Amino acid sequence: MRVSVFGLGYVGCVSAACLAGMGHEVIGVDVNQVKVDLVNDGKAPVVEERIGELIAEVVGSGALRATADVGEAIRESEMSLICVGTPSEPNGSLCTTYLERVTEEIGAALAERGGRHTVVFRSTMLPGTCTNLLVPILEKYVGGTAGVDFGVAVNPEFLREGTSVRDFFDPPKTVIGELDAASGDAVAALYGNLPGEVFRVPVATAEAIKYADNAFHGLKIGFANELGAVCQALGVDSHQVMDVFLADRKLNISPAYLRPGFAFGGSCLPKDLRSLVHAAQRADVSVPILSHVLPSNSAHLERAVELVERTGKRRVGLFGLSFKPGTDDLRESPLVELAERLFGKGYDLRIHDANVSLSRLLGANREYVENRLPHLAQLLADSVDEVLEHAEVCLVGTRDPAVLAALPHGGGPLLIDLIHLPDADARRTEPGYMGLAW
Ligand code: NAD
Repeated sequence: MRVSVFGLGYVGCVSAACLAGMGHEVIGVDVNQVKVDLVNDGKAPVVEERIGELIAEVVGSGALRATADVGEAIRESEMSLICVGTPSEPNGSLCTTYLERVTEEIGAALAERGGRHTVVFRSTMLPGTCTNLLVPILEKYVGGTAGVDFGVAVNPEFLREGTSVRDFFDPPKTVIGELDAASGDAVAALYGNLPGEVFRVPVATAEAIKYADNAFHGLKIGFANELGAVCQALGVDSHQVMDVFLADRKLNISPAYLRPGFAFGGSCLPKDLRSLVHAAQRADVSVPILSHVLPSNSAHLERAVELVERTGKRRVGLFGLSFKPGTDDLRESPLVELAERLFGKGYDLRIHDANVSLSRLLGANREYVENRLPHLAQLLADSVDEVLEHAEVCLVGTRDPAVLAALPHGGGPLLIDLIHLPDADARRTEPGYMGLAW
């Protein structure tokens, strides 16, 4: 394929050299003439393992050359990869100036060019940037429709500086955000048989994935460092702790706990976070991440209260009361907390949780309910229908099949899905359905 790569920084120069190494015909474009000249001399404009030899080789063979002329690059290629910088503005917002400028230049050049061309954004940009900011620029300049007259895709880059050439040929994954199938097909063809799973998703999803990855990397590093600092203060070898932690692929390093849903609770996580943060404070160790995990959890619970308030309804049903689906354990249950918040605000509440009802009947949790939750005990309903008949708005925090089967579709009480129900995707378009965790 004939490809132009815009921006010969870390991402662009590695992408350009590696694509040329795969056999594509690549033109690198940069506004910085020094970088253009360096590449044309067979030299790397960035310091990276293996990049010097690779550029010398592909420039020598004619597979890669560089230019500052956008028109020439667009005329001679079927695809452009945009790899310009997206730094922070002083207030922390994303700077899209370079992206906008290069998109205008490409749009103007495309207007002069016949035939299909696909514009692929590799720069990191917030969800919505492609559709709301960059596609309108292209459409204005080209005078056509994206996805019809020219292709558009978002293809985030997951390289790590230092090992980026190796990462290019052995990527952790390939994410293709496609405006239309033909654009996605073109990007998939570009990478040919590179290893790793390929995910074809809408463009905004592709944009968001990069942020999910980087936010989580930051969180992991902060978490590991904070834990290391606490361990050190307590005289524990944190690396030994993390060796064992990382060996657990069932719970720790797995999709578990990484699905958006309702706030966490129960008799372990809140208590353990609290005591860890407390121990850190006693040892004079600052742990901003760990100490904000519980407040973050409370903020999530508060979002559910706000959703109820926004409906303007007073008669509320709550399905689920235990701390998570599939148990009767009420200790530190976020649903108990939610019920208490709503009760305290004067909502007319009815609650159903089959496990809690059963356990109460058997006597197992009767004492807990009567002594700790007397204010909620009187609101418990043993039947699903009793709650549905009472409620103008229903909060669903359980996967109890009996509840799921009884929930109405597109009518009846408003539904607030707290946990991303199994049929959430189908319900999403129904009137009166709101999700706390889309
Ligand atoms: P960089 O600053 O090293 O390179 C950007 C290049 O774009 C510069 O050479 C600049 O001269 C050029 N440029 C600016 N405007 C241009 C234009 N109109 N036409 C042509 N060239 C233009 O940036 P980078 O580190 O390669 O990052 C690029 C993007 O990729 C950013 O969005 C970044 O967040 C993302 N990213 C970076 C990494 C990384 O490890 N560096 C990894 C993944 C994603």
